[in-house]
Amino acid sequence: MKTKNNNKAGVRYLLGLANSKKLILAVAIGFSVLSGLCTFVPFLMIFRTILLLFGEGGAGSAMQNGIIAIVAIVLRFVFQAISAAMTHVNAYNILYHVRRELCRHLGKVNLGFFTGNSTGEIKKIMMEDVERLEMFFAHQIPDIVVAIVVPVAVLVYLFTINVWMSLILLLPIVLTTLTQVIMLVTSKNPMDEFYWLAGKQSAVILQYINGMPVMKTYNLTADSYREYADTISSYNNAWWRAAKILSPPSAIITVIIESGLFFVLPLGGYLYLTGSLALSSYIFFAIMSIVFLSSYINLANFAQIFSQISSGIVRIKEIMDIPAMGNGNKTLLPTESHSLTYENVSFAYDQQEVLHNFSLDLPIDSLTAFVGPSGAGKSTAAQLVPRFWDVSKGAIRIDGIDIRELEADNLMDNMSFVFQEAFMLNDTLYENIAMGKHGCTRQEVEVAAKSAQIHDFIMSLPKGYDTVIGSEGVKLSGGERQRVCIARAILKDAPILIFDEATSFTDIENERKIQLALESLLESKTTVMIAHRLHTIVGADQICVFQSGNLMECGTHHDLVASGGAYASMWQTYCEAMREVAS
Ligand code: ADP
Repeated sequence: MKTKNNNKAGVRYLLGLANSKKLILAVAIGFSVLSGLCTFVPFLMIFRTILLLFGEGGAGSAMQNGIIAIVAIVLRFVFQAISAAMTHVNAYNILYHVRRELCRHLGKVNLGFFTGNSTGEIKKIMMEDVERLEMFFAHQIPDIVVAIVVPVAVLVYLFTINVWMSLILLLPIVLTTLTQVIMLVTSKNPMDEFYWLAGKQSAVILQYINGMPVMKTYNLTADSYREYADTISSYNNAWWRAAKILSPPSAIITVIIESGLFFVLPLGGYLYLTGSLALSSYIFFAIMSIVFLSSYINLANFAQIFSQISSGIVRIKEIMDIPAMGNGNKTLLPTESHSLTYENVSFAYDQQEVLHNFSLDLPIDSLTAFVGPSGAGKSTAAQLVPRFWDVSKGAIRIDGIDIRELEADNLMDNMSFVFQEAFMLNDTLYENIAMGKHGCTRQEVEVAAKSAQIHDFIMSLPKGYDTVIGSEGVKLSGGERQRVCIARAILKDAPILIFDEATSFTDIENERKIQLALESLLESKTTVMIAHRLHTIVGADQICVFQSGNLMECGTHHDLVASGGAYASMWQTYCEAMREVAS
C-alpha cells in the first residue's frame, strides 16, 4: 500500500464522507454559533451598564442588564450541550458509515491485497485513522464555523462603536493567520512523513511481536531486527523535526492571541487623549480585546489537527480507490462438478512477470499436483483461481466460462481453499468449522470433523466443540489447524478445491491423519494441490512441474519418471533424501 502522501484528499472528501448527515451537522453548527454569540452578550451588558454609569445613555437598567447576562450565560451552555450532543452522535454515525464502507469495499478487492498488506496497517487505518474523523466532525467543523462567524458578527458590532479600534483588533488575526499559513506550508512534508512513519511503526511493531518466537529461538536481540529499530529511530527523528518546525510558530500564535490588550491599549489611549474615543468605549474595547480573540484560538489549532487528520484521510481514500474486483453476472451450480482451464495465462506482480504464458486443462474431478522449486510460481498459479489476483494475460475458465464473468460470490461458492497459513477465528472450534457452510447442523459439523480426523482430538478437550481457540483460548498445532480447515472444506463440499500441502508439520502421525482427511476431501472434486513431498502425489491424475514461472512438463508420475525430464530428476533427488532421512 502506498501510504506516502499525495495529499489530494481534503475537506471536500471529508464532507463527502458525511453524506446524508450534513443536515444534522448544519443544525448542530447553528447551535454552536448561537452558543458562541451568547458568550459576548454578558460583555455587551457590561458595556451598556458602563454607559449607564457614565451617563452616556444605554438602554435598560443595571438589573435588567444583569438578568440578560445571566440568561445568556445559561443559554450559552444549553446551546453548547445541544450542539455537542448532536455533533457527537452525528460524528460516530459517520465513523460507523465510513468503517462500513471500508469493510464493504475491502470485501470487493482481490484477496491478494490482504496477503500483500500487513494486517497491522489495515487495522490502523480502520481504527485510528477513522477514529480521528470524530475530532473533525464532532469538534473541528463546529469550532471553525464558530471561530469565523462569531468574531465577524462581534466585529461588525464593534465597527459601529469605533472603526479604528475595531481595525486594531483585526491586526492580531492577520498576524496569526499569516503565521499559520507559513506553519502549514513549512510543516507539510515533515508532518506527512511523521504520520506515514506512525502508520509504518504500528505495522512493524505488530510484525515484531509476531516474530518474537523466532527471534527467541535464534537468540536474536531487538537490534538484529533492523527494520524495527530503523523505523522507531526514524519516527523519533521525524518527531523531533516536526516539533522543531512547529514549536516557534505555535508559540508566536499563542502569544499574539493572548496579547490583544497590547494592541488596543496604546491606540485607545491616544484616541481618548485626542478626544476621538469616549472613556466608556475605551474600557469596553479593553475588555473585548481579551475575550474577542479567545474564540479565534480554535482556528489557530486547526492547521495542526487538520494535517493530522488529512494524512489519515489520504490512507482511507487510498483503500477506497483500490479498484474493486470486477464482478460478472454468470453463475455455476456449486452442487455440480466443474472442469478448470488455464488458457495462455501470464501474471505479473506489479511489473515483475512471475508466470509466463502457460495453458493447462484440469478435467472434472481430477487431481492435479503443482510441483517445483520454491519461487517457481506454484502458489501464484493456484491463487489465481480464487482470484487472489487477476491474470495479466489469458484467462482462467471454469466449464469454459472466464472466472471474471462469474459473480464473485458464486465463484467462492464453487471453491474451497486450504492454505498453509490456516485462517482461524478467535472463536469456538464449532464455529471455525461451521463457517464452511451457512446454516449447517451440529451433526454435519461432527461428520465433517470425523472425516477430517479431528473429531477425536476435539472430543478430548474439556469443552469439546465449544473450546475457544486463538489468542485467548487453546492453541492448536499446525497439523490440527490444517485438519480444522480441511473439516471446514469438507463441510463446504465445493466442487473445486485448492490445497496447499503442509510442509511444516510433518510428523508421521499428523501426516497419516492429513492423508486420511484428504481422501474424504478430494472425493469428486477438481483439485489443484501444491505438493512439497512428492510421495503424497504419486497417484495424482497429472503432475505439473513449474520452474521460474514456466510450466515445464505435465503428466502422470509414471510417464514423467519414464521421460527422464525435470520431474524425474526431482523424484530421484527426493527419493535419495528420503532414504538418507530413513537411514
Ligand atoms: P512457489 O509457490 O512456487 O514457491 P510463488 O508463487 O510463491 O512460488 O512465487 C513466485 C514468484 O512470485 C517468486 O519470485 C516470488 O518472490 C514472487 N511473489 C510471490 N508473492 C508475491 C507478492 N505478493 N508480491 C510480489 N511478488 C511475489
